[in-house]
Amino acid sequence: MSTPITTRVALTSKLPNVGTTIFTVMSKLATETGAINLSQGFPGFDCSPELVSLVEKYLRAGFNQYAPMTGVPALREALAQKTFAEYNVAYDPESEVTVTSGATEAIFAAVTAVVRPGDEVIVLEPAYDSYVPAIELNGGIPIYVTLTPSGVDSPSVDSPSVASSGRSVGAVDSSDYAIDWQQVSEKITEKTRLILVNTPHNPTGYVWTADDLNQLADLIRDRNIWIVSDEVYEHILFDGRKHHSLMTHPELQERTFIIGSFGKTFHITGWKIGYCLAPKELSVEFRKVHQYLTFSTVTPIQYALADYLQEPAHYRQLPDFYQRKRDLFLAGLQGSRFTLKPAEGSFFQTVSYAAITDEPDYDLAIRLTKEIGVASIPVSVFYNQKNDYKLLRFCFAKDDAVLQQAAERLRQL
Ligand code: PMP
Ligand code: GLN
Repeated sequence: MSTPITTRVALTSKLPNVGTTIFTVMSKLATETGAINLSQGFPGFDCSPELVSLVEKYLRAGFNQYAPMTGVPALREALAQKTFAEYNVAYDPESEVTVTSGATEAIFAAVTAVVRPGDEVIVLEPAYDSYVPAIELNGGIPIYVTLTPSGVDSPSVDSPSVASSGRSVGAVDSSDYAIDWQQVSEKITEKTRLILVNTPHNPTGYVWTADDLNQLADLIRDRNIWIVSDEVYEHILFDGRKHHSLMTHPELQERTFIIGSFGKTFHITGWKIGYCLAPKELSVEFRKVHQYLTFSTVTPIQYALADYLQEPAHYRQLPDFYQRKRDLFLAGLQGSRFTLKPAEGSFFQTVSYAAITDEPDYDLAIRLTKEIGVASIPVSVFYNQKNDYKLLRFCFAKDDAVLQQAAERLRQL
């Protein structure tokens, strides 16, 4: 072990409140303790061998130098075609589609493209962890709209149990984490420059409705406000739900950076490849930032994905694939003292442990990892004030046997 280098000049942190992310902390603890890791959101199974072969083909064929700054034309074209086929919305592959090094980069670039010092940005919390640092590094001020489990206005939870309510697994109460439009309206000021949207939502699984789109359009109609819409779980929706992409509402589309990620759709979170769809004027500014954040994104993977996207079944099978896993996990929890509402989308299920213990969620997540060998994410970490509603988030993008074993351990509580 070498000794750390001493720095004699004080560096004032630009992100004083940021430490190691909870995803890293919990995954590390899971590895150290040998626990089943349902914490960090990544598939526990491999991607398609066909996709791997395609990458290999392009690696061996010498597609190993810089891609064009905006992404290889074949992939931009494939993305535009897929978007038109899925949502009936046309984006110009030349000027409105940009390939990025993951959704994280795309979110950062979009926020940076519009937020100036002193601008206010509406963040609906619980919120994914990369949003607020992106706002703050640009001198923006996050303005929080706090969403809660249904029936909750103070940090306690009263959600009906799947088991005790007698509802079959898969029953849905769509009021959970519904957007409080009154609160959003009250938080909008002359300084509001951007609103961050995430549907399907991490960690709650909430899926925006057509009414949510209309409400948002009504609120921003006469204002100079942009939108970043994080839609990385666009293909993971349950119980017949439809993804209401913000691009499908013309008034919203013209102001929105739509952010996608292949990581979620094709089980390749480690490849860090995503994209941004935005009207030309927005894409011009987005690309100025992207150009100097990464310049371009890994070349052979872009060619491989362009080919792989030609078969829509590769992403259209995802709702069934993940709904089965969600239901398997929920069935495993039947008879436990956890209470929950089945996730509407994403590959996360939040569960309430209010009937089991009143420990803080962070402490419980650590204890369950160490004592029963199941790692989760405490939902409080997604709130600015660390609101503790006694909820844990479990990732069900895992092999069936792993989900069954995890549920069996959780039933013991
Ligand atoms: N947004 C949300 C809501 C996410 O859950 C994630 C990753 N899990 C990302 C963005 C980041 O995606 P990527 O890995 O493509 O950067
Ligand atoms: N998005 C993943 C999650 O919510 C984690 C990604 C990361 O580790 N940064 O678990």
